[in-house]
Amino acid sequence: MERLGWNPLRHPDRASGRMGEMSDIDGMGTERATCVLAPNPSAMTLDGTNTWIIGEPGAEEVVVVDPGPKDGAHLRRVVDIVASQGRHVGLVLLTHGHPDHAAGAEKFAGLAGHGGLGGSGGGRVKVRALDPRHRLGDEGLSEGDVITTGGLELRVMETPGHTDDSLTFWLPADRAVLTGDTVLGYGTTVLEGRLGDYLSSLDRLRAFSADRDAATILPGHGPKLDDPLAVLDHYIDHRRERLAQVEAAVAAGASTAREVVERVYADVDKSLWPAAEWSVQSQLDYLRTRD
Ligand SMILES: [Zn+2]
Repeated sequence: MERLGWNPLRHPDRASGRMGEMSDIDGMGTERATCVLAPNPSAMTLDGTNTWIIGEPGAEEVVVVDPGPKDGAHLRRVVDIVASQGRHVGLVLLTHGHPDHAAGAEKFAGLAGHGGLGGSGGGRVKVRALDPRHRLGDEGLSEGDVITTGGLELRVMETPGHTDDSLTFWLPADRAVLTGDTVLGYGTTVLEGRLGDYLSSLDRLRAFSADRDAATILPGHGPKLDDPLAVLDHYIDHRRERLAQVEAAVAAGASTAREVVERVYADVDKSLWPAAEWSVQSQLDYLRTRD
């Protein structure tokens, strides 16, 4: 779907009236990282997926984190923004394999490989992810890896919990933490992985952020957060509170995840209940293994 006079620096939805909130997110970032907001808002994806373009100042090659859903206009917009800066995409990284982050990766790798200035020889750009099913090329991504594309330094941390394959990227030059869906710009994340893993990931991120004096969280959805320790403390407290609520619901007679959700999430939009059930199941499993 081509648009006449379409400007890559303007979002296709800019005329829709949603821009009040969106403009806070689209284009936000740090010196090295810029967000391109995908037009896929929903209860689960908040304003939409944040695609991150990350490059060292003056470097011709950039890294793109989470190309987003398979939305041709969005993917082309990301490529065009990079090209308008006289740069090209050297590598794609995925924070995890959920479709709102990863489904567009293969198409994006093709667009970026052909269109870029210099590109990567007309081929496809490599996609690196923890889960082999989401990779393009033979390189994986795991704890302790250091990405140096275009002179950039990005460090990889495994932070399972939202999913088993969730990664966090540390951009030391900007003291920024790219958390994917492990920490969101607002609200709380849904757990598909194990709660024990998630709590450990949050504790690790908290310790790491304190140790490195992290300045900003760049999440997979929602606005960036400029007080990482306060945010992580809030997340950790929230999980412990929810856990206490689940324990209380079980003590009061709830026996299935659904029954727990009806008690604990009574104040939450019902469209989120199926997702909440996943979280609660994870909490029930955690309480069982802990006992
Ligand atoms: Zn997501």
